Amino acid sequence: MVFPCNEIRKTAWDVLQNFDHALILREDDPLLPAVLEVYEKQGIRHGAPQNTMTGPAFKTELATAYPECRLVVTKETLTVEGMIKIVYDLLKDKLNIAKITFTSGMNAASADFSTRQEIKRCPLCGIALQDGVCPKCGYRKH
Ligand SMILES: [Zn+2]
Repeated sequence: MVFPCNEIRKTAWDVLQNFDHALILREDDPLLPAVLEVYEKQGIRHGAPQNTMTGPAFKTELATAYPECRLVVTKETLTVEGMIKIVYDLLKDKLNIAKITFTSGMNAASADFSTRQEIKRCPLCGIALQDGVCPKCGYRKH
């Protein structure tokens, strides 16, 4: 079955919006405790009314997202290569990814992936089922 393109964007944006306007720091960055302290003092550590475009929180080997305060903590220094690793890891179970390219100013990195897996998809929408249920239309696999 053909995968609908707009669903690719939605699936990717779901996790990527955690990086949008976010502060991204390495886990051992000396600024991290200071920033969290300021967030606590300002009362925005656990959310703010203006912070509405938040993706679901995630925690992987490579990064942890705290969408309530627009913070992503990474294991390694964030480079375009690192961003590819993080994003591939977040999306590899939802999409069959052939290539990821990231650019940042003059830096660019690209990686090709050959992993192909059988992803159980909704026969009506084409998007990946979550525990046998389509998150979009509610289709249930019998
Ligand atoms: Zn569906």
